[in-house]
Amino acid sequence: MTIQFKNTSVFYHRKTPFEYQALKDINTTFDAGKFYGLIGHTGSGKSTLIQTMNGLLLPSAGTVEVDGIQLTKKVKQKVIHLAKMKVGMVFQFPEHQLFESTVLKDVMFGPMNMGRSEETARKKACDYLQLLNVHESLLDKSPFELSGGQMRKVAIAGILAMEPNILILDEPTAGLDPVSHDETMQLFYDVYKKTGITVILITHDMNDVLKFTDEVKVMSQGSLIKEGITSEILSDGNFMEQYNLEIPHVIRLVQDLKKKGINLKGTPKDTADFIQLYEE
Ligand code: ADP
Repeated sequence: MTIQFKNTSVFYHRKTPFEYQALKDINTTFDAGKFYGLIGHTGSGKSTLIQTMNGLLLPSAGTVEVDGIQLTKKVKQKVIHLAKMKVGMVFQFPEHQLFESTVLKDVMFGPMNMGRSEETARKKACDYLQLLNVHESLLDKSPFELSGGQMRKVAIAGILAMEPNILILDEPTAGLDPVSHDETMQLFYDVYKKTGITVILITHDMNDVLKFTDEVKVMSQGSLIKEGITSEILSDGNFMEQYNLEIPHVIRLVQDLKKKGINLKGTPKDTADFIQLYEE
């Protein structure tokens, strides 16, 4: 499923003294089945952009087309609902959204709310809990009795059980310790690999962008200023410095070696790749 932006602009507080243009004439496409990074400084418009993908915000001008569904400022509520079903969003601390009395009921809530039968909702809930390695013995427990890591998996299963075609991760690791950070990112990457779903990751962590994403889109002051293959953009030292973006650790190492006359073939995605390329 693709998401296409055509001349999309968003103004906050339109026609008031506080009017502010958060998105400026965006033209871009997110293709099916890819893992995207969406990067840029705080206030550059990333959250605004993703909120237009599921109708949480409507464009003030232009369109956002979600799998053929056109979202414009005049679109009907019924159409917004259709778009919402296609796009799943994971915000920081998704486990804070758990509320049902059991794990199973919590994960079934989304599909049932979308009109699925109880039987289908149960099947989907069980399938996705299994995909995330949540043990069957936990299904009838209260989600609040689980460890933090398990709670997070249940919350993510709840979003996946609605079978969105696109998964948006809005700084999903902010505030986590390094171990939970790595576990959470690996979890999303495993889900991506197993389901083939399109993923869009918003993050300030350029090491994660390099390691997990295929393509990257860069925002600045409400505009999309660059898009393309992740490793190419993140190794463009002039661009990264111009926009004051952090260059990932392994790319810095490669650049340091280059200065010493040692050229590596390809761009390593993480330290393990780097060591391998270096040794070769
Ligand atoms: P990012 O996600 O990149 O940090 P946002 O999309 O949240 O950027 O914000 C883009 C700009 O729009 C910022 O200047 C922000 O202050 C402004 N903004 C965001 N939400 C609102 C809102 N509800 N009302 C007014 N201005 C907003």
